[in-house]
Amino acid sequence: MKIIVQKFGGTSVATLEARGAVRKKIIKALDEGLQPIVVVSAMGRKGEPYATDTLLNLIRAENPAVAKHEIDFLISCGENISAAIVAANLQAAGIKALALTGGQAGIITDDKSGAARILKVDTTYLRELIDDGIVPVVCGFQGSTENGRSVTTIGRGGSDTTAAAIGAALKAKAVEIYTDVEGIMTADPRMVKQAEIVECISYGEICQLAYQGAKVIHPRAVEIAMQKNIPLIIKSTFSDAPGTLITNDLGEDTKDTPIIDRIASGVTYLPDISQVRIAMNEEQNTAGMEIFDLLADSNINVDCLNVHPGEIIFTVEENDLDKAVNILHSKGFDKMAVEKSCAKVSVVGAGMRGVPGVMATFVRAFVKAGTPILQTVDSNITISAVIAREHLNKTLAQLHEAFGLSKSVQE
Ligand code: ADP
Ligand code: MG
Repeated sequence: MKIIVQKFGGTSVATLEARGAVRKKIIKALDEGLQPIVVVSAMGRKGEPYATDTLLNLIRAENPAVAKHEIDFLISCGENISAAIVAANLQAAGIKALALTGGQAGIITDDKSGAARILKVDTTYLRELIDDGIVPVVCGFQGSTENGRSVTTIGRGGSDTTAAAIGAALKAKAVEIYTDVEGIMTADPRMVKQAEIVECISYGEICQLAYQGAKVIHPRAVEIAMQKNIPLIIKSTFSDAPGTLITNDLGEDTKDTPIIDRIASGVTYLPDISQVRIAMNEEQNTAGMEIFDLLADSNINVDCLNVHPGEIIFTVEENDLDKAVNILHSKGFDKMAVEKSCAKVSVVGAGMRGVPGVMATFVRAFVKAGTPILQTVDSNITISAVIAREHLNKTLAQLHEAFGLSKSVQE
């Protein structure tokens, strides 16, 4: 029997009504002769009783310096609640269902609490359940260390990764990610009203979109699915729309198909970054690169790096700014300018490769929005710019417009 992994996000399991919609999706898969494996996130979003953030606040109020082991032990509970409730809901409809923790489902991780990586999926128990006609309802986001002594969590958006890892391990027909939008859109619909659903997108493009801020799917999930060539489908729990199919690199393999007859596939943004510009004297110029080791050792992620003679420019997450500045001061880099409250906006598209005029189109959008560009960086299929955050909304709208990300272009 063909296996399908169905992952349901926080809003999809938050209410009885929503869980009714979840049940319909699972019944539909069963009716189609597929064997579903269900993966669930914690219920609801920030502020709601069982959401991950709520649990985190609860334990930090008790002890701000609590050990990571206890944090993972607690924040993994949100998924336990969801899995039990969803399994109960399925049982009420006469479906044989069983709730499983990540560890029970065979998700084995390293021991890096809070940011564990999945090392392997031991599928023995999942296969036994499937053979017995049972629908496993697996807690996303969690795993267990190999010796079974610690519950671990795999970071924000981790339930997507759980679903992809199970799909890859069991060679599923597809991994369906059910959420509150009808698929991947050309922009975050909360920021750009004209955003449209994309019918099909390559692993490479969605990975870039996700890394550059589009939180609709976790990039690690995309990487795992890509490695094993498992189709990923992003769909709404609450409608029958076909959703977005994520599949292999359309830009390379299917150059003549209409799907890639678009320059860009989406625009996205990272809203909370700061830009650092350091003036380097000659001596520092040669030794200067050591600062990146220092920042990396302190777990500070450096992005948008431009190196010029006499100057280095880069960005860090706003939360890391003070720490980064202190490190730089301590190493004698005192000619420094910091631009707080910045955002990074990006356009992603496999169709941009080698197309002349793309940069001109990009820059024109900023001119039209009246947004000064503080810095640009580009790679293979992504062009990005750092701007002041106050210009974010209008800049995204202009970029979306400039790259023709409207329905008429995609059809
Ligand atoms: P879930 O809890 O189901 O995992 P998420 O909040 O992680 O849901 O992801 C869905 C949300 O992602 C949407 O509600 C939407 O606001 C946001 N989003 C950001 N960028 C995009 C995009 N390009 N396409 C679709 N949704 C996006
Ligand atoms: Mg999510």
